[in-house]
Amino acid sequence: MALRLFNTMSHQKEEFKPREEGKVGMYTCGPTVYNYFHVGNGRMLVVFDMIRRYLLYKGYDVTFVQNFTDIDDKIIKRGQEEGRDPLELAQDYIGEYFKDAAALNLMPASIHPKATDHIPEMIEIIKGLEEQGLAYAVDGDVYFAVDKLPAYGKLSGRTLEDMQAGARVEVGERKQNPMDFALWKNAKPGEPFWESPWGKGRPGWHIECSAMSLKYLGSGFDIHGGGGDLVFPHHENEIAQAEGYLHGETFARYWMHNAFLTINQQKMSKSLGNFFTVREILEHFPGEVIRFYLLGTHYRSPLDFDDENLQMAQKGLERLQTSIRLADEALGRQGQNSADAASGQKLRAAAEEARREFAEAMDDDFNSALAYASLFELGKAINAHVQAYPYSSEGLLKARATLWELADVLGFDLAKPANQAEAGNQKLDQVMELLLEVRAIARKKKDWEMSDLIRDRLKDLGIVLEDTPQGARWTLK
Ligand SMILES: [Zn+2]
Ligand SMILES: [Zn+2]
Repeated sequence: MALRLFNTMSHQKEEFKPREEGKVGMYTCGPTVYNYFHVGNGRMLVVFDMIRRYLLYKGYDVTFVQNFTDIDDKIIKRGQEEGRDPLELAQDYIGEYFKDAAALNLMPASIHPKATDHIPEMIEIIKGLEEQGLAYAVDGDVYFAVDKLPAYGKLSGRTLEDMQAGARVEVGERKQNPMDFALWKNAKPGEPFWESPWGKGRPGWHIECSAMSLKYLGSGFDIHGGGGDLVFPHHENEIAQAEGYLHGETFARYWMHNAFLTINQQKMSKSLGNFFTVREILEHFPGEVIRFYLLGTHYRSPLDFDDENLQMAQKGLERLQTSIRLADEALGRQGQNSADAASGQKLRAAAEEARREFAEAMDDDFNSALAYASLFELGKAINAHVQAYPYSSEGLLKARATLWELADVLGFDLAKPANQAEAGNQKLDQVMELLLEVRAIARKKKDWEMSDLIRDRLKDLGIVLEDTPQGARWTLK
């Protein structure tokens, strides 16, 4: 089946054709590390992790590059506020990033380049732009000259006239055009700096991504992703720099952007006091629940974030986990298999149907929300089958494997419980299984003393045993 994805550049869904057969080069703009990442960033990270995993599932060899912006105005400001070296502060938050990323089950990128490790590459591009007359230096700053690049604005669909109409010209402005943006910034006293042909300074934000993506993926790489708020100016500027430097060659072929996230129907902002970091939410919900919630809406639709939505996500994930647990219990049950050929065939067909619908949903611009429906359908089929035929069967084995595998493609381990109480219950189940096995052996040996001791002591603990033709059952009183 052909994979189609929405390309921001063309404003339509296009069939995905990689630059090189079987291979995908993918870049996303990683976090600026001056804090824990917030849930809006979390959405972007989870969405592109899901996209990468689905490409892997389809058999592509994916090189995924996600940078760290570890030098930036915000990092310097934060460092000054805390009286710390900004570069050290950034390094600390890179460490914290990996903790939250692991909780969300984000696969580490193939390469996680840091901006400060790529200053020479950035200087190289800026020099190239300067030579072509696309950049100019003023007192140690270097700006990109947007008038010199006719294609400027092609991603966001804005014309230079529109942009200029809304732009503020500040007093003491040294730019030739108000839309010109900084490629290199002259170092102010006390700021971190690097030597350059224009004096001591540091790179602008946009040039970082152009340099790191071109270095690791080359020109014309497949997918460039990020949050929708990055289309303008960040991605527009990345394109201008890279394609200017490459003499008009294509920088990236497919531009993908996820929609924004609101908190309780309001746009997330620090001033509104609804600025949630993933670290904060992890105090209240497990990472896989946050992930399940974030992928429960198509990535190009806005998503509202509140406690109730998270609780619903938790229930949804638990339902799928329950199906796996029920299947595991049945598969572990030795006994007369009452499932007939027709019912086994029906369950196998349900598994195949789920796999087909899952692929159809995901091939249509990575519709993870619709893909969930195929998982729930299959879960229901498993539950119904186990209820009718509580013993191991071949059809059940296949259905269970399919449900587990498809959930895994989206980054969920269904064998992992969605909450701690559930984890405790699973342990209890296992211990009880063991006890019942010991008791069954005692009864086989006609060791009634041991058999009764187990039953009576469990009863003291509030666990009631009942002997049935299928073996002993237990219930919590
Ligand atoms: Zn970027
Ligand atoms: Zn809290």
